[in-house]
Amino acid sequence: MEIEIATIGGYEEVGRNMTAVRAGDDVVIFDMGLNLSEVLLHDDVAVERMHSLDLIDLGAIPDDRAVGDLEGSVRAIVFSHGHLDHVGAVGKLAHRYDAPIVATPFTLELVKDQLAGEERFETDNTLVSMEPGETIPIGARCELEFVHVTHSTVGAVNPVLHTPEGAVVYGLDKRLDHTPVIEDPIDVERFSELGDRGVLAYIEDCTNAGRKGRTPSESVARARLRDVFDSLADTDGALVATTFASHVARVASIVEFAREIGREPILLGRSMQTYATTARHFDYPIPEDVEAHGHRASIERALRRVANEGREDFCLVVTGHQGEPRAMLSRMARNETPFEFDAGDAVVFSARTIPEPTNEGQRHRLETLLRQRGVRLYDDVHVSGHLRDEGHYEMLERLRPENVVPAHQTLSGIASYVTLAESQGYTPGEDVHIPRNGTTIQLAE
Ligand SMILES: [Zn+2]
Repeated sequence: MEIEIATIGGYEEVGRNMTAVRAGDDVVIFDMGLNLSEVLLHDDVAVERMHSLDLIDLGAIPDDRAVGDLEGSVRAIVFSHGHLDHVGAVGKLAHRYDAPIVATPFTLELVKDQLAGEERFETDNTLVSMEPGETIPIGARCELEFVHVTHSTVGAVNPVLHTPEGAVVYGLDKRLDHTPVIEDPIDVERFSELGDRGVLAYIEDCTNAGRKGRTPSESVARARLRDVFDSLADTDGALVATTFASHVARVASIVEFAREIGREPILLGRSMQTYATTARHFDYPIPEDVEAHGHRASIERALRRVANEGREDFCLVVTGHQGEPRAMLSRMARNETPFEFDAGDAVVFSARTIPEPTNEGQRHRLETLLRQRGVRLYDDVHVSGHLRDEGHYEMLERLRPENVVPAHQTLSGIASYVTLAESQGYTPGEDVHIPRNGTTIQLAE
């Protein structure tokens, strides 16, 4: 059976991930993501109203016209997890394919949110919910499986397409976490079993390629967070924490530690409210009695209550860790809300600044404003959701893939991974591929 991999997006940048795999007459698409830095650069564009082709020209979404060149029919559109660089283009692209959308229940809810916010296109693809360990048939001879992985959001999987020529493992995104705080540990045993049965190709998350060592567990981030919160137990200023709203484990830890030091946590910001609602729906531990406000009027009411009852009794968990100008933290720092920072207030960034010029500039502006007001800053109380080099070695050992396809990075990021694969006996251009957006890799005839 002929097997081809079309590397559509995310092979020249960290963002807009999309890959299509053809096995005989059947094609499976993995992810349809947004390139956040391109969207940030064009702050004035309303993505939800724009046409796909204009967004493709901007470099904001994958150029999926390459899928039309594959000689097969799309049988499924599969999402690995709910981050925007993986699901953010679903509203723009999925309607072009007569195929079901397949994802874990949590990811599927986030896909539905994306589709509800889309103003330009109607999407009526069937939505199929699938749990890790389950499979569905793809065409007559292939099968799709989900393997549970750990990442910086919940409900993440590595999808696997089983073909008569071996498995194609879509490895975006994960870290090898054996103590992930609120979910099961990563299912590394399943990866070893897949390796024993034969892996034709492994598409790898190279976000952190070239970084030495092992990505720490979420329980390490949790311990660091507890250390910071304990140190703030006796302060009587405001306490504001910010992290990725999608990072349910992290938000849950912040809520727990806020309560431990006698402060009432309040979640503020549109995405904080969305994710808290979705997380509770799936019984993740964001307690029902924690307030979450997403709309401006209710946010302002909550902040007036904080001002009236005493800021020392609350912990505000807000959006805006990258300094996004319209997110909560920047608006609070600019005094655009009923809350005003005072000297001695504390802000905990449970996130790392994404190393990208737009972000770095915005974060710099935010931090300067906060420091001018005498705010104490706790930066980078965080661990990454992506594998570092020791994780990459372990995955190669477990899967022993015939072919490796590095993804989720620029060319220089991919180069670090190619060097690593070479040290494990792979040969660049032969069985470790160096793809660009829009290339097709032939794997079996
Ligand atoms: Zn991700």
